[in-house]
Parts: sequence; structure tokens; C-alpha cells
Amino acid sequence: MEKLLYTGKVKQMWSTNDPEVLRVVYTDQATAGNGEKKDNFKDKAELNNQISTLIFQYLEKNGVPTHFIKKISDKEELVKKCEMFPLEVVTRNIAAGHFSSRYGLDEGMRFAIPVEELFFKSDELDDPILNSSDAVALNVATKSEQEQMWSLSRQVNQLLINLFDEAGMDLVDFKLEFGKLHNGQIVLADEFSPDNCRLWDKKTKSHMDKDVYRRDIGDLTAVYKKVLARIEEVLEED
Ligand code: 5GP
Repeated sequence: MEKLLYTGKVKQMWSTNDPEVLRVVYTDQATAGNGEKKDNFKDKAELNNQISTLIFQYLEKNGVPTHFIKKISDKEELVKKCEMFPLEVVTRNIAAGHFSSRYGLDEGMRFAIPVEELFFKSDELDDPILNSSDAVALNVATKSEQEQMWSLSRQVNQLLINLFDEAGMDLVDFKLEFGKLHNGQIVLADEFSPDNCRLWDKKTKSHMDKDVYRRDIGDLTAVYKKVLARIEEVLEED
């Protein structure tokens, strides 16, 4: 019997007949400000599932180990079961969002070296920032596990900077989550979509990610459809 294991802000996780495999069901919900703002958007589940599937397949093809197995319907995918690190692993190529508000900087400064930040995943504590030794002290991840996550994040950054560049977008920043398979291997998990990254149109600098919803500056569904169409076009050429 399949059981609902977990309901997140935008996805559900179900068990399957195979103890090593979980089924992810995407929902139409978007949230912002740690769930304070919440709305449903028609087609969002399908869009996130399709975009994340394409990105995870592209990353796998280029040597990044992930939890992804396959997409099984418009709103569902199968993934490998892993023990998740309660961490948000954020990489920034251009100043925006909380980096800009924290340090009083305008958005748009391109960093010579990408900024790397870790956050402790906790709704109660509002995902506080933490440093490497904090993560060790809290028994969240060893130094070596953190190094492996950063090494994979850097690989993802390089691959996706190139992919989005070809699709006419700047990859401003993104948040990754990692898990450990039963054999101990660290793999990229969760999803990759405009929900967890910032994308700016290279020509117009317009926002092509969840900031249109967070900031009430555009139509989320229309923007996500545009992102999908652009990456499909690039990936078809490959
Ligand atoms: P910031 O720290 O500026 O809010 O976010 C940096 C990047 O990480 C952005 O691309 C943002 O979408 C992503 N991010 C940060 N926290 C979360 C979160 O709790 N959920 C999701 N989906 N993305 C996040």
C-alpha cells in the first residue's frame, strides 16, 4: 500500500512498493515568505515537474548524481529514497534577494567568485543562515559531507550558467538540497525550477522566476511557460 509520507509546501512524497523508491506529486501551490503568502496557479504542478525533469536529466547526463529516476505523469515523478540533509545550499552569481537586503546593496552586482551560503532548514526558526562549523556542531553535516555538497553545487552552477545563457537568461542564484542514498552516496535531491532559482532575461533583465509572485510583478504561469519553452529549445538542439 502506498502511503503519504510527507506534505511539503509545494510537493507530496509517497512511498511505493519498492522501499528504495518514492513518488513525488507536484501541486499547483506557490508560497513565499516561509508560507505566509500562499496561492494556487493552474498548470504550475505540470510546469515545475517538466522543468525539473529536464534539468535533472541534463545534470545526470553531465555527471551530477541525483535522486531522479523518471517522470511518470504530468504531475508525478519517481525518485530514489534518500536521507535528506536539513540544509539549503545557496549559490549566488549576482547580488539579489536577501544578499542585497542583508548588505544594503542594489541588485545586479556580478560576483567575481560565486557566493556560497548555507541555511538550516527549519520553518520554526525561519531557515537561519549557518556556517560550516555550526553545521558540524548541530550534527547536520560533517566537513567532508559539506565539501561534497559544495563540489556538486559548483558543478551544477557551471552547467546551468551555460544552459540558461544559451536560453537567453542569467542564472542569478539558486538553492539546492542534498540527500544521502542508503549506500552513503550524496546526491542532488528536491527539484530545480524557477521556484528555487532566480533567472533574469539577458536582454530586458526582467524576472523569470518566483520573484514575479513574491513581489507581485507578473504572471507566474506565463513566466514559467516561457522558461520551459526556452530550455526545451536549447535541449532539443543538443
Ligand atoms: P534569498 O536568500 O535571496 O531569498 O534566495 C536565494 C536563492 O535561493 C533564490 O534563488 C531563492 O529562490 C532560493 N531559496 C532560498 N530559500 C528558499 C526556500 O525556502 N525555498 C525555495 N524554493 N527557494 C529558496
